[in-house]
Amino acid sequence: MNTALDQLAAQLEEWDPLDILRWADKTYGVGLVLASSFGAEDMVLVDMWIQVNPHPTIFYLDTGLLFTETYQLIRRVEQHYRVQTIRVATSLTLEEQAGHYGEALWSTNPDHCCTLRKVQPLQQYLADKTAWITGIRRDQTVQRRHAAVIAYDARYHLIKINPLVRWNERDVFRYLVRHQVPYNPLHDCGYPSIGCMPCTHAIKPGDDPRSGRWAGQEKTECGLHL
Ligand code: SF4
Repeated sequence: MNTALDQLAAQLEEWDPLDILRWADKTYGVGLVLASSFGAEDMVLVDMWIQVNPHPTIFYLDTGLLFTETYQLIRRVEQHYRVQTIRVATSLTLEEQAGHYGEALWSTNPDHCCTLRKVQPLQQYLADKTAWITGIRRDQTVQRRHAAVIAYDARYHLIKINPLVRWNERDVFRYLVRHQVPYNPLHDCGYPSIGCMPCTHAIKPGDDPRSGRWAGQEKTECGLHL
């Protein structure tokens, strides 16, 4: 069935990401939030949204296992753009997690680890929001191949907006360089996709850009976008 939202998605498909953000900001107001891992795509969105709204709501999921470079980038972003980011995290400490489920749950059961440390905190945070922005691109994974610019996110019960779905990695880095946007230095060290330390590894030139995430396992998504 072709719903009004599908028609809107078809319309927005032709729009520039900055115009999509401008429209989203105007349409959803204070209920609109940006989920940022401070990866390259999210840095594009941070830079763009701030052009539209100097007080955007930017949050990140702090699993307690992010790279030092990521934590440093968060502080740098806050200083550079003069914004305060929102830390979203489970109250379950890593020690408690190990006590309940065993050491290194990310190795024995990464799906459960992601559920505890990412999906559940995200569900709680999004519960009173009306729309969230993400940096997913269609060319990143098979699961993202049919992502729309805008859709109803039945899992979290709000609108999901993906302004960069049509972009590729080159578009992203071209923007970062052209606009002198701060980005995670790990991107220059073989990490095209950066998540938690235990589940992210450097890749070699020519490898699948997502192959450094959960290497050696079937898992390709943390569950946030499924
Ligand atoms: S990415 Fe790895 S360490 Fe992070 S929450 Fe998921 S399984 Fe746990």
